[in-house]
Order: sequence, then C-alpha cells, then structure tokens
Amino acid sequence: MLFIGTYILLTGRKELPNQLLFLMALCFSIWIFGDLVLWATEFPSYTMTFWSLLVLIEPFVYFFAMYFAYVFLFKKDIPTGLLILFSIPLWVTVVIAPTNLGLTGFSLEDCERAAYEGMGATYGYVIEGFYTVLILIYAITAFLRAKSKDSKERIKILIFASSIILFLVSFSLGNILEVFTENWYIGQYGLFGAPVFLTGLGYLILKYKTFNLRLVGAQVLITALWFLLLSLLFVRTIESVRVVVAVTLVLVTLVGILLIRGVHNEVKQKQLAQKLATELAGANARLERLDKMKSEFVSIASHQLRSPLTSVRGYISMIMEGSYGEVPAKVKEVLTHVSDASRHMALSIEDYLNVSRIEAGNMKYEITDYDLKKLAEEVVVELLPVGEKKGIKIELKPLTTETATVKLDIGKTRQIVQNLIDNALKYTQGNGSITVSVRKDVGKKMAYVDVTDQGIGISAEGIQTLFQKFERAKNANEINVTGTGLGLYIARTMAREMNGDITVTSPGEGKGSTFTLSMPLNGIDAKWGAPFRKI
Ligand code: ADP
Repeated sequence: MLFIGTYILLTGRKELPNQLLFLMALCFSIWIFGDLVLWATEFPSYTMTFWSLLVLIEPFVYFFAMYFAYVFLFKKDIPTGLLILFSIPLWVTVVIAPTNLGLTGFSLEDCERAAYEGMGATYGYVIEGFYTVLILIYAITAFLRAKSKDSKERIKILIFASSIILFLVSFSLGNILEVFTENWYIGQYGLFGAPVFLTGLGYLILKYKTFNLRLVGAQVLITALWFLLLSLLFVRTIESVRVVVAVTLVLVTLVGILLIRGVHNEVKQKQLAQKLATELAGANARLERLDKMKSEFVSIASHQLRSPLTSVRGYISMIMEGSYGEVPAKVKEVLTHVSDASRHMALSIEDYLNVSRIEAGNMKYEITDYDLKKLAEEVVVELLPVGEKKGIKIELKPLTTETATVKLDIGKTRQIVQNLIDNALKYTQGNGSITVSVRKDVGKKMAYVDVTDQGIGISAEGIQTLFQKFERAKNANEINVTGTGLGLYIARTMAREMNGDITVTSPGEGKGSTFTLSMPLNGIDAKWGAPFRKI
C-alpha cells in the first residue's frame, strides 16, 4: 500500500489528490506496523505504546480519506473554514489519545497481552463514523449534481464511493468487533480492503492523466512479484510456500501476457512506422520534383512574358511621346491607364522571377562596401516625385552624421529600401508623410534604415505572416491596392542573405507602421567604432 501511495505521489508531487492519497497510505501503513508489533511483542510497555499509537493514528486514515474524497468528487480543495472545522475532532484525538482516556490499563488476567480501551478510543471510533458519513454525503451530492445524461461520471462516483466506504467500514468494523468480542482475528479481515481500494483508486487517478497504463500495470505487477519472492525467504511451513507460489504463478501469468502483448504491439508499430517512413520519403521526393518543375515553369513563363511586355511598354511610351503622330487627349488618357497596368504587370513578373531565383538558389550577390546612408538618400530622392503625385511627403532624417559603411549588394539593397518606401506610399491613404531615417548602433555593430508611415497599419496577426510568400494582410486587400504579396518575402530573403534582416512594428490597424532594414556594419568600422571617415 505504501508502495502504491508513493508511486502515485511521484507521478505528480504537487497535486493535492496524490498528496492526500499518499498521506492516507502512510497513516494506514503506520497503523499496520503498530498492529504487527502488538501481535509480536511480549512486553506490556510496547503493547501500551503501540496500542495508543493505533488509537492516535486511526482517525487520521479517515480524515485523509474524507479530504481526498472531497477533492476527488468535487475536483477542488475544501474551503479553508470547512477544513478547519472538520479537523477539530482530529485534534481532540491528538490530545486525548496518549492520556489515560485513550487506554485505561493493561490486562493481566490472562495471557492475551491486551490493553483496556477507554473513552478516548471509543471517541475515535465515533469520529471515524463521522468522516465516513461525510464521505457518503459528498458522494450523494456529487451524484445528484452530475448531469443525468453523464452516466459515465455517475458510475465513476458510485464505484469510488462504494469502494472507499466499504474499505473504511470494514476497517472500523473489524477493529470495533475485535475489541468488543476480544476475538483479535476478526480485525485482520478488515485490513484487506485497503490495498484493493488503493489499487483501484490509483488506477482511476492515473487513467485520467494520459499515463501509460500498460507500463504502470507491468511495474505494479513486477513489484508485487518481487515482494512475493522476498516473502518466500521468510515463510516457514510448506503450506504457506504453496500459497505464495500459487499467487506468484498467477502474477507471472499476468505479467507474461502483458509483456508478450507489449512486445508484439511494439514490433507491429515499428513495422508500421517503417512503412510510413518509406512512403513519406517517396512522397517527399515526388513533391520536391514537382516543386522544382513549378519553379522552372514560373521562371520560363516569366521570362517569356517579360520580353513581349517590354516591347509593349516601349511602344506605348513612344506613342504617348508622339513618335507616331499627334495623339488625341482622350486616347492619351486611355494610354496612361494601359501604361500603368503594364508597369504593374512588369513589376509582378519581376517578383515572380525573383522568387524562382531565390528558390532555385540562383540569386547572385555582388558584395561591396557601401554607405547605407547614401543609398537611402538616393532612393528617397528617386521616389520623391512619386510621393508628390500622391500628395505624400517623404522626409529623410539621418540620425547619424557619419557614414554607415556596410557590406552589401548595391542593386539588391536599393531594391529592398525601394520596396519598403513603395509599400509605405501604397498603404498610406490620403495625405500623410513618410520618414526615412538612418541610424547606427556601434555597440551592436549594426546600421538601420527605418521607414515609418502614417498609413493603414498592421494588426498583430498580420505581422506574423507578412513576410511569407503571397501573404497580404486583410486591410491591404480591403483598400483595393494591387500587389502580389511577394515583395516583403523577397526583400527579407535578400536582406538575410546579406547578413541583415527586416523587422516591422505597428501600433495597430490605422496607426501606421515602421519597417526596419538592419545590416551589420562593415567589420573595420564596427570594430573601431567612431570616429568614421568623413566623406
Ligand atoms: P504586396 O505589397 O505586393 O501585397 P508585400 O510583400 O510588399 O506585398 O507586402 C505584404 C503585405 O504586407 C501587404 O499586402 C500589406 O498587407 C502589408 N504591408 C506591407 N507594407 C505595409 C505598410 N507600410 N503598411 C501597412 N501594411 C503593409
């Protein structure tokens, strides 16, 4: 019993039901130990000491059982006030059990080596009854509270209540009857309820925690076998050996079945896992082939779309410039739309090409030392007219007066910064302004370009997915701004390839956002920190 109690405790030391069950098992085991001493000892002083220990410890078994039943049935702790109230009778026992009220004396009349129990002991039996009745009340309440449809819950309550009450009543009855009839053998039968009850209860507890029951079962059985074999060393008569061997045989059969079944299942599962792994590898290879084919298709298609589109755009611009004669104003207006649309198409094709280059590992980087501040400045100057057209001011605010030399691919980094400012323009409705600032952190050896807008902003969920391929936030779709959802994916991939990164912050939708490109400062500049060379 102590073994099972400890085992359950170890499966979750901080859980109240486990602790209570362990305490109950502990008190019960102490009781059994005391009782064993009573059977064995010849000395009145031992009898008196251990007998009063029994009187003292017995109500504790009931108290913990009552406490446990509450927690088990109502799935919560007893309110503190109630707990204090319920424990008062227990403290009375603690006070009176060791006094004359517990045991009044020692019987010298015959050779029974028994003590006379006094009022204190009788009082103990009464509070045992009190705790048992409490359990009964809890069980009835829980039973009535369980939804009538939930028959499983009701069955659980019934099994639990009947087994715990049966155990407690048989324990008490055994003790009471033996004292009153002075037939000390009766009490022994009352004890068998405990391990049976605890085993069932342990099963219930473990069952509700996705615990490997087969493993627990095997462990419990093997331990029982161990105890039985150990006990063989101490049995004296051949009859007793037979009993122990018979029980051992039953247990060995059970363990055998469990183990053979376990091994069988394991082998089966391994085979299944192997089969699945082979299938999965095949599927994976197929997927990889398909993915490559898709990338090649996108690449070829994009190339073939790009050249005709370039000539379409060339001709449109020549027509608009009047190379083929005077163009009426109305036609010019239509041509402007055609030109805009073809520009969008060209940009999208460029995005697709970039993605297929990235995926095929064909993106080439030409790394040189370059001043990030200068680069940002150039891009801003280029995009000023686009902003003006939309009525949006783009401000450059370098926060560093020195250069911020970074190892980068100039074309790709320009594309990144351009993309960030383009997006800021795209996702700002009405008037507003965009700030581009360049700063550096010599300590962290990093240079940063922040692009801050007062546009539509991004929700917290949006931020999670923005940088993934084809991802667009909901509010971007709502305002009808066209896009592929590839720009940021490409930009971040390129930034990372150059040892940098892009991050984003936004206070929320409608509140603008800040995209930050970070790049590591060139080794030499970063290492020596300021002062930087002035250009
Ligand atoms: P696209 O702009 O072509 O949709 P991007 O990859 O450049 O693709 O951007 C992905 C998504 O990130 C956009 O659809 C938009 O939802 C969001 N986003 C990007 N920049 C901003 C910004 N400055 N303000 C608000 N949302 C933005």
